[in-house]
Amino acid sequence: MACPEQRPTGPTGTTPPPPGPPDADAGDGRSAAGPALSGGAATALTTDVLVIGGGIIGLTVAWRAAGQGLSVVVADPEPGGGAARVAAGMLAAVTELHYGEEALLELNLRSARAWSQFAGELSQAAGTGTGYRPCGTLAVALDSDDRAQLRELHTLHQRNGLTSQWLTGRECRRAEPMLAPGVRGGLRVDGDHQVDPRRVTDALLVACGRAGVAIHRASSRRLTLRADRVTGAELSDGTVVSAGTTVVACGSRSGDLPGLPEAARPPVRPVKGQVVRLRVPASRAPFLSRTVRAVVRGSAVYLVPRADGELVIGATSEEQGWDTTVTAGGVYELLRDAHELVPGLTELPLTETCAGLRPGTPDNAPLLGPSVVPGLHLATGHYRNGVLLAPATGEALAQSLTTGTLPAYAAPFGPERFATGAAPVDHPRAESRAADDLTGARR
Ligand SMILES: Cc1cc2nc3c(=O)[nH]c(=O)nc-3n(C[C@H](O)[C@H](O)[C@H](O)COP(=O)(O)OP(=O)(O)OC[C@H]3O[C@@H](n4cnc5c(N)ncnc54)[C@H](O)[C@@H]3O)c2cc1C
Repeated sequence: MACPEQRPTGPTGTTPPPPGPPDADAGDGRSAAGPALSGGAATALTTDVLVIGGGIIGLTVAWRAAGQGLSVVVADPEPGGGAARVAAGMLAAVTELHYGEEALLELNLRSARAWSQFAGELSQAAGTGTGYRPCGTLAVALDSDDRAQLRELHTLHQRNGLTSQWLTGRECRRAEPMLAPGVRGGLRVDGDHQVDPRRVTDALLVACGRAGVAIHRASSRRLTLRADRVTGAELSDGTVVSAGTTVVACGSRSGDLPGLPEAARPPVRPVKGQVVRLRVPASRAPFLSRTVRAVVRGSAVYLVPRADGELVIGATSEEQGWDTTVTAGGVYELLRDAHELVPGLTELPLTETCAGLRPGTPDNAPLLGPSVVPGLHLATGHYRNGVLLAPATGEALAQSLTTGTLPAYAAPFGPERFATGAAPVDHPRAESRAADDLTGARR
């Protein structure tokens, strides 16, 4: 690894310009992403760390690595984009618990606990908010089958020492008066909060810029190798970045990256999710005071109310390859199920429909830290919890990039578990499906 104090340099040896003042953040906040390097001018860069992919995970890793004194370049044609522009932002370590995912539960809980401080640090570093809202979650049941499933989830919580409280239908409606009269009962989970992922990635771009991270708006054309070591990447604009360590953080595209040595190729696949956004007028606020979710006819649906009046309804879960088409069927099912839960929402203005790709893995867990190929780390495969897991991922990668090893809590998620020739992962697929039934097929 190159010396930590080395900053990214261009062919003329110039360091990136200092980050701009807060008021340089124009429009969507993404244009003022600190020292953005664009195509053409630069042809060679040297850096401690090259992060390929500037979604919520890549930017968090870059920001935390820069905080350790490492020089960092991020390469992404659309930094601050990716699945986080679509995600609801639930920090749902408890309500998202699935059978067979107990190891992941520990990581999820750790990251959920870290969110409050992470949001505070990020807001301070960027001078903008993250929409972090410690509002809790209410999971409700509309019929006796749903109620039986929720009871099972409650039992699973108790078995894992998690805090959730069973409420009668009447108690649910007292907590959330907009709920349908037919609600049969529910689980109150006061520890599952939310954040606004769009505001988080916008803030990360600014914070990265201020920390000296160089954002290069180009994609990785291919990784470069010397002997068996990854030495950086050649970008789509011809720039060659030489890096002590290269981090692949391309979300659902991570397994596709040209030049990836086969032994380190992550088994990541795209899992499509469609989302609908409504707006609660001030005259109807507060419409909901916390995240409300349910399983309706076997499919999960959730409503996430933001402090600014946005109401996010999600999400489908579809194995459709790279397709991100918003379909009439997807939107219809989401609105139909959400309407059963909260009938009054049909009067709210519909502001947006969108679809994104979750980076799914065979065991639903991320791949973190050093790969089996020297010079190459991974931070990918966060599937349905990439927003929740951003703080823990940033912390784990900051350690692996400075010391070469993951902290103990992240060690079970090392990429070597999927390396070619590795022993098969003990993944309880059937149990996981059963768990999907428990918490619904969506999300
Ligand atoms: C509908 C939906 C709802 C969700 N809800 C939640 C939720 O409530 N809570 C939660 O915790 N998570 C949620 N998620 C999951 C979460 O959004 C993802 O896990 C997370 O955004 C993944 O982040 P990432 O940075 O790894 O990947 P991505 O967001 O996919 O970002 C990858 C980046 O890599 C870039 N890239 C790709 N190829 C290249 C290349 N060759 N060179 C350079 N750059 C490249 C892309 O441009 C992109 O910016 C949801 C996801 C969806 C789709």
